[in-house]
Amino acid sequence: MMDGSAIIIGSGLGGLECGYILARHGLEVTVLEQSNHTGGCLQTYVRGRALFDTGFHYAGGLGDGEPLNRLFSYFGLMSLPWKQLDPECADEVVIGDRAFPFASGHRRFAERLTECFPHEKEAILKYTDFLEDVGNRIFDIFMSRDAGGFISGPLFAKSAYEFLNATVSDPLLRQVLSGTSLKMELNAESLPLYVFAQINDSFICSAWRLRGGGSQIADSLVESIRKMGGNVRTDAEVTAIREKGGKVAEVVVNGGEVLEADWVISDIHPSATVALVEETRALRKVYRHRISSMENTYGMFTANIRLKPGALPYVNRNIYVHRAGTDLWRPEPGRTDSVLVNWAVPYDGSDNAISLDLLTPMWWSEVEKWSGLPSGHRGEDYVRFKRDRTEECIRLAERRVPGLGDAVDRVYTSTPLSYSSYLCEPEGSAYGIRKDWKSPMTTVLTPRTPFPNLLMTGQSLNLHGMLGVSMTSVLTCAEIIGMSALASEILQL
Ligand SMILES: Cc1cc2nc3c(=O)[nH]c(=O)nc-3n(C[C@H](O)[C@H](O)[C@H](O)COP(=O)(O)OP(=O)(O)OC[C@H]3O[C@@H](n4cnc5c(N)ncnc54)[C@H](O)[C@@H]3O)c2cc1C
Repeated sequence: MMDGSAIIIGSGLGGLECGYILARHGLEVTVLEQSNHTGGCLQTYVRGRALFDTGFHYAGGLGDGEPLNRLFSYFGLMSLPWKQLDPECADEVVIGDRAFPFASGHRRFAERLTECFPHEKEAILKYTDFLEDVGNRIFDIFMSRDAGGFISGPLFAKSAYEFLNATVSDPLLRQVLSGTSLKMELNAESLPLYVFAQINDSFICSAWRLRGGGSQIADSLVESIRKMGGNVRTDAEVTAIREKGGKVAEVVVNGGEVLEADWVISDIHPSATVALVEETRALRKVYRHRISSMENTYGMFTANIRLKPGALPYVNRNIYVHRAGTDLWRPEPGRTDSVLVNWAVPYDGSDNAISLDLLTPMWWSEVEKWSGLPSGHRGEDYVRFKRDRTEECIRLAERRVPGLGDAVDRVYTSTPLSYSSYLCEPEGSAYGIRKDWKSPMTTVLTPRTPFPNLLMTGQSLNLHGMLGVSMTSVLTCAEIIGMSALASEILQL
């Protein structure tokens, strides 16, 4: 057990997991959340009989012995009501009028795709083996003497796009293997192979939804932190970070209250963290400029759809529908070329769907003109813009979900403006800072900052998503309590 105290800015998955680890190790923990709800991208909301997720929709690798299972077991999250998606087809990729199954488990994944592409048997095996190998080595970073070096290591410095082109010659198969990738920003010029391989591998292991929504993850972590003596506060916006003698000395809450701690961990976007640090010579301008000018990944448009009772069956897989001819590695703002259809698990156990979500990429440039206006007062053209995008998403999804349009009862939408307003995420980015394989040293951040007692965590470092953020929480807390003890606890060495 350790003495000391820690303030954590932000109660997203990363902030709460850091709170959990540090409270478990005896530190006095205070998590500060600006919103009136904890969870960040894990938040859910209810409209009538329908419950909607705002960010997180499904997780990969929760089966026995799989990477996220190990992490979530440590965080006490495996007792939540997880539901495995159909192992024979957890994700279905639709390109034009053809559908391709993504089965769970590496062998079955390769077999089912080989049935569709028998001439690419060797390439499919090579691809699958490579991903499996990367996935099997995910925890090597915990053993590495130099986590920072590992983060900017070989697979972060390789292009995912070039890897795919070099491994697979059939262009349709390349599209299919890229087809579940709304869960990351496919970008031919920048996406590192590590991000592509690690995230895809975890979903090939197995894929899971959470009956009752993602907020249960946050609620469980909050409850555990409080049980261990920690404090989690909502409506507590950190408005300044103050330095004294080269260290962070104080954190200002809601513009008035001043709190002190030995450690401060920021789970918010790195550029927002740097903006909170009051002017001081200890934080060089060049560092501020570098962090605040980093590019962000695209945002997401979500249509949360409440369905008419009994209108559609619940479907235990995700469907990614792409227009034929779409270049998935060069998505274009203003178009609806791809949509993810994600059904919520009916909490009443019935076979009928209560709600489903449609997600498609949306860029800040598409909504920026309304950014100065408060939510609910953005005018008729914004309402029309969202209505048009919803209709395009429904029309595209209907290619694989016939009758969807007629089954709609109510639609609730969110755009990058929503993530910017409610979570303070710069440009409403879905996955934080865009990592670039050409410059991993500058785009893949480590938890350390120029202040020895200010650390960062969350999706903008290392990897995003449930797996990436959980890995990063461990890396961040290892800076305080040491990696060897933490790794042995988590990996039960
Ligand atoms: C639309 C969408 C769909 C997604 N789907 C999936 C999925 O299916 N599976 C998956 O694994 N991942 C998914 N992700 C990614 C995943 O949800 C995120 O990577 C992860 O939840 C991010 O957690 P975080 O802790 O980094 O940050 P966040 O969840 O962004 O939390 C940051 C918190 O900090 C708070 N905050 C901000 N500023 C301040 C301040 N000044 N003071 C105090 N608090 C502050 C915010 O209110 C917020 O609660 C999705 C993301 C999006 C946007």
